[in-house]
Amino acid sequence: MEYWSNGVMGGGRPNTPLLHHSNSSVIFAMAVANDESPLVRELRSLPGLRLKLAEPLARYTSMKIGGPADYFIDVENGAALAALLALLRRHHLPVCLLGNGSNVLVSDRGVRGAVLHLSGEFKKVVWHDAGEFVRVTVGAAYAVTQLVREAARKGYAGLEFAEGIPGSVGGALVMNAGAYGSEFEKVVEQVEGVNTAGEPIIFCRDEMTFTYRDSHLPAGTVVTRVAMRLQKAEAVAVSSKLRELVGKRKSSQPSGFPNSGSMFRNPPEDFAGRLIEAAGLKGTRVNQAQIAERHGNFIVNLGGAKADDVHQLMELARAEVHRQFGVELVAEVKLIGEWGKI
Ligand SMILES: Cc1cc2nc3c(=O)[nH]c(=O)nc-3n(C[C@H](O)[C@H](O)[C@H](O)COP(=O)(O)OP(=O)(O)OC[C@H]3O[C@@H](n4cnc5c(N)ncnc54)[C@H](O)[C@@H]3O)c2cc1C
Repeated sequence: MEYWSNGVMGGGRPNTPLLHHSNSSVIFAMAVANDESPLVRELRSLPGLRLKLAEPLARYTSMKIGGPADYFIDVENGAALAALLALLRRHHLPVCLLGNGSNVLVSDRGVRGAVLHLSGEFKKVVWHDAGEFVRVTVGAAYAVTQLVREAARKGYAGLEFAEGIPGSVGGALVMNAGAYGSEFEKVVEQVEGVNTAGEPIIFCRDEMTFTYRDSHLPAGTVVTRVAMRLQKAEAVAVSSKLRELVGKRKSSQPSGFPNSGSMFRNPPEDFAGRLIEAAGLKGTRVNQAQIAERHGNFIVNLGGAKADDVHQLMELARAEVHRQFGVELVAEVKLIGEWGKI
């Protein structure tokens, strides 16, 4: 059975003996750390991969929260990715992609199956002068902020809106990340990726449908490269626009504590942050997780917060906003891993 849930793809249960007593992630993680199953031997034999067993995910997320991934796999190049996906499919192992982890909430119990993280070849960028405009072809693991700043230095306009979005190009594309009136869909020309079988796929812009915070790619697509079209402009003007937007961001968003950006999508004609503030919830805490004082749609980790604490705050915000205003808030962050009842 194929299933997808909040960015987690799967094809049944892993065929390792490790899932039998998985109530405690600690016991589970220790068991996985000693795993020398045929699957692990196969994974270790594939070139272009770095495998870590029972790897805690907190260090890979902007919220600094998240339990262990059974199989955390750094993938260096396209050939390795194709071989890996084919192998994981053969073993019916669930697969989840992690970019810069800036739009996820990873469960304290961690993620069963494989978590893939792109690096190496997926961090390349190529600039191409196409006459009236410029085309940049950039790997999915490239940092959005780095791309934005390079474009500004070169005097290429179109990506200024993305300054301060701490994601990878792949994650930003999948989320159709946006701010200040623009979104990735405005600059995307073509997307390259692989499907669940590890086969290459290409989507041209006119074959794609973007909506608010969604690029509607087929379930299981791993984005590997994105081509974007930027406009030639004055470097001074692009840099000045960047500075203006950095200032706006600084004055409206909490800084200093780890977070995942906006927790909820904005409902039509309104703002999730405004509704949460109007519900009187700013500053509300569950243990070390807090609805930010500065922005109602941010939850900050004051130090040592658990995913369950954040999840409880999200449920509280959802319930109160619904009770007081009749509005159903929808999560923008992707909940990844094993979630039980609170
Ligand atoms: C301080 C702060 C400010 C933010 N500001 C904004 C903002 O202004 N606008 C905005 O839209 N967002 C914002 N975000 C949210 C976040 O940065 C964006 O959604 C970002 O694009 C996510 O990219 P990522 O690489 O971190 O993705 P992740 O969080 O790692 O993943 C997000 C989703 O994309 C999937 N994914 C990641 N990479 C790939 C890939 N290569 N192929 C297939 N699927 C993939 C994951 O499985 C997951 O479902 C902010 C976050 C923070 C912490």
